[in-house]
Amino acid sequence: MRPVHPKKEIERSLRYLEQQGWRVEPGGSHAWGKVFCPYPGERCRCGEFCICCVWSTPRCAELHARQLCRVVEHCAIHQGTPGQNEVHQNRMSEKRRTTDG
Ligand SMILES: [Zn+2]
Repeated sequence: MRPVHPKKEIERSLRYLEQQGWRVEPGGSHAWGKVFCPYPGERCRCGEFCICCVWSTPRCAELHARQLCRVVEHCAIHQGTPGQNEVHQNRMSEKRRTTDG
């Protein structure tokens, strides 16, 4: 059993991710935890793009919860359309922008 996330919006998203087969791993130095794509394979580039950090106290919990759901939807294999790397990269730069300030 993993610990429950303090923000209920995010906890709801984590449960959604788990239903989709994603692994939720609490811990880490900067974040509350991480979520990992369930599809090990080159097509999906797991370990590079299909990982998302879960923040413990994001500025907007609802927004972060929505971002987590979007990671699932953007996963190449989950979509059934491999080769959507642009989407993954967009997400990465989007994330960088939100953590900037
Ligand atoms: Zn994936």
